[in-house]
Amino acid sequence: MEIIFDLKGLRGAVSGWKNQGNSIALVPTMGNLHLGHLSLIEGAKDQADRTVVSIFVNPIQFGHGEDYELYPSTLEQDLDILRDANVDLVFAPNLDELYPAGIEADTRITVPDISDILCGEFRPGHFSGVATVVMKLLINVQPDYAFFGEKDYQQTLVIRRMVSDLLLPVKVLTLPIIREENGLAMSSRNSYLNESQKQLSSGIYKAIEKAATMLRTGADSFDGIEKSSVDWLEELGFKVEYFSIRRRQDLKLVNDGVDKSLIILVAAWIGDTRLIDNLQVDI
Ligand code: AMP
Repeated sequence: MEIIFDLKGLRGAVSGWKNQGNSIALVPTMGNLHLGHLSLIEGAKDQADRTVVSIFVNPIQFGHGEDYELYPSTLEQDLDILRDANVDLVFAPNLDELYPAGIEADTRITVPDISDILCGEFRPGHFSGVATVVMKLLINVQPDYAFFGEKDYQQTLVIRRMVSDLLLPVKVLTLPIIREENGLAMSSRNSYLNESQKQLSSGIYKAIEKAATMLRTGADSFDGIEKSSVDWLEELGFKVEYFSIRRRQDLKLVNDGVDKSLIILVAAWIGDTRLIDNLQVDI
């Protein structure tokens, strides 16, 4: 496995493979790897001849007062995991490599509309930060495929829209959420939770499953389901940012009786930890 920290080395390695006719898959991550990341890596390995995993905690997707400084960094452990997974190349640049002009003055990619709702409403600038760093990675790796997790469903739509609008020659592929036994979606941020918070955290998945059952059976209006879900989570001790039933293709509000492919999305805090989750529902 090659471990590369600079863009020149990255471009050299990838172009060598391309010249040999190999296809390339990219899996962007912020490290602190878990089984959710590994499922993307397995998908990438099945799809392409060579798999590149990037590890970079991207400062510009964190808002002021968010957890950029606290974000778990476990590079040595991650490299062991990636070696065991037979990844071909790990790209782990430092800040200057990706932001030579500094992070304040940097050029930004902004994907309209989809970036401003749900998570975008509560984390202004977040998706612009994500789109910008993913663009930098796509330009420099020039992969045939790029893999993203449906855990960050809104992010997958932001990336798809960017790729489509900017005519990037890459196929975006997404894979389902990998969960803990208690239903909690795996996330690097789960390491912030103490034992009792970990137990409580299963409430998020229970709430979306309950809401999904109500949706399928038509037990209540969309509004009614959203309100009772928020109440239930808040009684458990969560602080809910949003609990929303949306159309799956663009996260717009559901046209009742017309849209059948839906998704339930939630963002909620337990103590100082913000968790997100979602569940796709067909009605
Ligand atoms: P992160 O390191 O959190 O930025 O995540 C890197 C990639 O892994 C993103 O595409 C995430 O959506 C994906 N990912 C994170 N957690 C999970 C999970 N539990 N299941 C599936 N994919 C995930």
